Amino acid sequence: MARTIAGAQLTVAHRQAQLALRADVLADLTRLWTLFDAGDLEATFTRFAAAAEILIRQRHGDSAGLAAAYFERFRSAEGVDGTAAAQLVDPPPPVLVRETLRLVGVNGVTTAAQAGLSPAQASRRGLVRVAGAATRLVLGGGRNTLAASVRRDREAEGWQRVTDGSPCAFCAMVASRGPAYTSQRTARFEAHDHCGCSAEPYYRGSRTLATNARLAEAWEVAQRQAADTGELSRGTSNDALNAFRRHLAGGQ
Ligand SMILES: [Zn+2]
Repeated sequence: MARTIAGAQLTVAHRQAQLALRADVLADLTRLWTLFDAGDLEATFTRFAAAAEILIRQRHGDSAGLAAAYFERFRSAEGVDGTAAAQLVDPPPPVLVRETLRLVGVNGVTTAAQAGLSPAQASRRGLVRVAGAATRLVLGGGRNTLAASVRRDREAEGWQRVTDGSPCAFCAMVASRGPAYTSQRTARFEAHDHCGCSAEPYYRGSRTLATNARLAEAWEVAQRQAADTGELSRGTSNDALNAFRRHLAGGQ
């Protein structure tokens, strides 16, 4: 958690700004999706992807800009020594954006059609998949800008995951582990399609976000209960995550 109230407020505002950006992107994507026609899949998907690529790369820049402004304001609100400029990251290459969309979109539509769904339902499935990938690419602008800025900031120790309020079990698990320290080579922001998480820089004297501390307690309880009932007998990390998922779903 931020050391100051102003810092904590900036984190909340930044999270909301990124989620509002995501909502805008979803609305625009839904409009662009009308270019797609499952009856003429190849040609119309290409047309959709060309338009979506421009949208995604632009909005990636917006997400990065929001994060850069937040990073600098947060740092000054927290009274951190010295200065550190935000490190804006480049948008993903056009071909990567188009291929990512094609991979999930075409796959979403064709597997739904093969499963017997109507063309309209299959198209809807495709849009959901495309939206998940598109928002991951867009919000990567903010996440990667924050991670890069923190890495370049001599005073920063890492960052904490800021969940979107109803995180999936995976994000809740990662958040429960506390700050990701940049001194550890494995420190990178893991995000999945549809993920709404962002990050808060972590400095000496920062505290664990209250939500993340609660998730850490919930993780402990879930693992203890699962161990008692023998659910962890195989000892895989998947068992542990599944136990946590059930625990969160049960609202215990
Ligand atoms: Zn997430």
